[in-house]
Amino acid sequence: MAQNEILFERAQKTIPGGVNSPVRAFRQVGGTPRFIQKALGPYFWDADGKKYIDLIMSWGPMIAGHAHPEVVEAVQKAAATGFSYGAPTLGEIELAERICELVPSIEQLRMVSSGTEATMSALRLARGFTGRDLIIKFEGCYHGHADSLLVKAGSGLLTFADSTQNAPSSSGVPQDVVKHTLVLPYNDSPALQEAFRRHGDAIAAVILEPIAGNMNLIRPAAEFLTAVRNLTQQYGSVLIYDEVMTGFRVALGGAQSLQGITPDLTCLGKVMGGGMPMAAFGGKKDIMVKLAPLGNVYQAGTLSGNPVAVAAGLKTLEIISRAGFFDCLSTQTTKLMTGIKAVAQKHAIPLAVDSVGGMFGIYFASEVPTSYTAVTQTNLDQFKQFFHGMLNAGVYLAPSAYEAGFTSIAHDNAVIDEIVVATDKAMQTL
Ligand code: PMP
Repeated sequence: MAQNEILFERAQKTIPGGVNSPVRAFRQVGGTPRFIQKALGPYFWDADGKKYIDLIMSWGPMIAGHAHPEVVEAVQKAAATGFSYGAPTLGEIELAERICELVPSIEQLRMVSSGTEATMSALRLARGFTGRDLIIKFEGCYHGHADSLLVKAGSGLLTFADSTQNAPSSSGVPQDVVKHTLVLPYNDSPALQEAFRRHGDAIAAVILEPIAGNMNLIRPAAEFLTAVRNLTQQYGSVLIYDEVMTGFRVALGGAQSLQGITPDLTCLGKVMGGGMPMAAFGGKKDIMVKLAPLGNVYQAGTLSGNPVAVAAGLKTLEIISRAGFFDCLSTQTTKLMTGIKAVAQKHAIPLAVDSVGGMFGIYFASEVPTSYTAVTQTNLDQFKQFFHGMLNAGVYLAPSAYEAGFTSIAHDNAVIDEIVVATDKAMQTL
């Protein structure tokens, strides 16, 4: 029996489903999850010693490549002086200053340990700031697993007409909590306008992924973003950009720098910790000062601003700020998409591709989808076969058709060529 299978059996005895985060379990694609023993650059190796080109990069953070020697050195140096103090450090100031420089809409920020904490805290702050309860989120956007954000959309109009119709997408979430969450379709400005017309004065915040990456990759329409910004401004609601995934990944200044939109609050995570547990939320100072200890919105964390995570984050931000980093990353990622698309055309398989910076989408459909509904109509069976074909050929894709993919600067031309060859092999079996 292969080591991966032995470990999976063993893991399931003490860890529910054998994994510490559900999508790792390969439930959509079937098969045995790979247990990773080490990683370097664009590669990782499983428990059987099989080498893969990694196209999830820890779901985003490893933009500089795995075990980048400069990041490893920074982490080792920080660890040698203690792991956690529960008191402030210089590194936290440096990281906060750097983030404020890179993302100018952030005047102040608070560090936390996960994206879930960042979005949950940003929402509490928005509610405390506005004195309102209702929030708007969009279908197919994931913002972590806080209760009020785990809401499944009902059909658009019904949902915003009466939010008590919302069904939580997880059991254990009270209806009383989700009744304050309105769920609207992504990229649907008329639905948003109607929601504001009906409930505008009660809406504390609109939270969105400014380029959605949790329903594969879906771009927002420019007029949708303008509507989001204008309506939140008009009704005094807080606009929260959840850039946990897109921040420092689609561009150095995040999606907001590409879109010319200034949100009120931004959530960050993933890349800003370089693979360590680290995230943040920040934005306008007049909102941020409502946080404890200055204001009466409480938020705290034993490991927040952890010095080892700060060291990994600072070094990662330094690396990605170097001249040409994002141009190179974007060019490589585009080249990868073009290569994969050409192979699909050769095999007469309908396939669409898209990418922004180091984030990409591969869709078994003839056109790039623009909504959650369109993503769910892509060919899931073909994706599953393709996933396993790629896995056999040594390329590790996200084990779900509804996730974006991620590259790193270490995915150079030679690696891209290897992936394209693997794609050809995998597509022969479809
Ligand atoms: N927001 C977005 C946009 C995300 O993609 C994620 C995680 N993939 C989160 C929030 C939650 O972050 P975490 O898993 O660190 O809690």
